[in-house]
Amino acid sequence: MSYTPLSAYQRIELALGDITKERVDAIVNAANSGLRGGGGVDGAIHRAAGLEIMKECRRIGYCGPGEAVITGAGRLPARFVIHAVGPIWHGGIDGEALLLASCHERALELARTNHCSTVAFPAISTGAYGYPAELAAPVALAATAETLERLPMIDLVRFVFVEERRLEIYRRALERLRESDVGLRLLRADRSIGFAGRDVGDAA
Ligand code: ADP
Repeated sequence: MSYTPLSAYQRIELALGDITKERVDAIVNAANSGLRGGGGVDGAIHRAAGLEIMKECRRIGYCGPGEAVITGAGRLPARFVIHAVGPIWHGGIDGEALLLASCHERALELARTNHCSTVAFPAISTGAYGYPAELAAPVALAATAETLERLPMIDLVRFVFVEERRLEIYRRALERLRESDVGLRLLRADRSIGFAGRDVGDAA
């Protein structure tokens, strides 16, 4: 019988708090393409980290939407800051979901190449960039889980929210995705038992 690894969804958790305080290997910043810092979580991270990471960001210079770059973490408890650029919401007709999924995937790949096993994300694009949280949540969570499936060395991804209401939206989305994931796995297991148990002659 084939071994089914623990669902990637089991490695995702949600918490209330300030991401700058997270004691994880890497925190993800909701950055802009120019890596110039700004308001929201970006401003909070740069204020708490100090000038060093801004210098590194200037040296890197640019990061396109859907992409991510990595710097040190200055005074933060984390070891790295991964600057991921989410999409600006234009009504959902401009490839926003693909870009949002991609920046989660790219951030996790960078975490992996830098030997991080714990990563914290904010709710990328759902602030100044205007992505409705109800629509962003399933995209961000499903992209994270899909990426975790092929990155077993990442033990934990924690999504951190400053608002309870936002956390609740992501919690509901995570529950729905976990349920459909269990459904899919059961279906796959069922099929593989069906195929394995069938004689060649049955096909006729
Ligand atoms: P974007 O420009 O990608 O929309 P924002 O920084 O405006 O990024 O908002 C992204 C999310 O980060 C919002 O849901 C906002 O409430 C949240 N946020 C702001 N400050 C923090 C913080 N210190 N820790 C965690 N999340 C934060």
